[in-house]
Amino acid sequence: MIRENLDIVERNIQAACDKAGRDRSEVTLVAVSKTKPVSDLMEAYDAGIRVFGENKVQELVDKMEKMPGDIHWHMIGHLQRNKVKYIVGKVELIHSVDNTELAEEINRRAEKAGVVQDILIEVNIADEETKFGIAKEEVKDFYVNISKLPYVNVRGVMCIAPYVVEPEQNRHYFADLRKIFVDITNNIVDNSRVDIMSMGMTGDYQVAVEEGATLIRVGTGVFGARNYNTT
Ligand SMILES: *Cc1c(COP(=O)(O)O)cnc(C)c1O
Repeated sequence: MIRENLDIVERNIQAACDKAGRDRSEVTLVAVSKTKPVSDLMEAYDAGIRVFGENKVQELVDKMEKMPGDIHWHMIGHLQRNKVKYIVGKVELIHSVDNTELAEEINRRAEKAGVVQDILIEVNIADEETKFGIAKEEVKDFYVNISKLPYVNVRGVMCIAPYVVEPEQNRHYFADLRKIFVDITNNIVDNSRVDIMSMGMTGDYQVAVEEGATLIRVGTGVFGARNYNTT
C-alpha cells in the first residue's frame, strides 16, 4: 500500500514540476511518519525514501534508533526548549523555529555538540491564532536576529497552510511564503545558504510545488490516515 501511495505522490510531484517548468530534483519529499509504526517506515525506506519527518521529539528519537543510519530526519513539529538537546546534531533540519529563545537554545546545544544546526523559520502565513510561527511582518527582523547565532544556520522558511477542501485556496499563502523567502535571500547575512521553502502537505502539495516548494511534507498521502486513538 505504501509503495503504491508513493508511486501516486511521485507522479503528482512530477506533474506539478512539469506544469511549473521545474526540475524534479528541486523538490524533496519528506515522508511524515508521525504515529506510524516502524514497520511502515521500513516499507517506505525499502521503496527508496530517505527523508522522514516527525513532530514529537521522543517518537523521533525512538524511531531513529530503530531505523537504518542513512536516513535524514526532520523535526517538523512545535519544539520545546527543554527538548532541543535530544535532537540537535541528530536531525538534518528543524522546520519549526519561531522564537528567539528557541533559536538560542539550539545554538547553545549545537556549540556543545560541535555542529552547526540547520533550521527553518516557521511562518504563521495565514495569521491563525491556533498556529505557531512568526508573523509575516516580523520574519525579516527575526531572520537578521537569529542569523547572528554562529551554530545555527537558517536555511529558509516553512509554513503550515490552513486546512482547505480545495487546494487552490492555499495558493496565495504559498505565493506569500515565496515572497518572504525571496526577501530573505535578498538580505542574506554573511554567506549563509538560504535555499529551502518547506510548504505543502497531503491536501495541497501539488499547488505548493507549483509555487516553488523545495520541501513538501506528506503524511497521509504516503502512509494513509492516522489513528490517534491507538497511539
Ligand atoms: C502531520 C504534518 C504534516 C503531514 O500532514 P498530512 O496532511 O498527513 O500530509 C505536515 N507538516 C506538519 C508540520 C505536520 O505536523
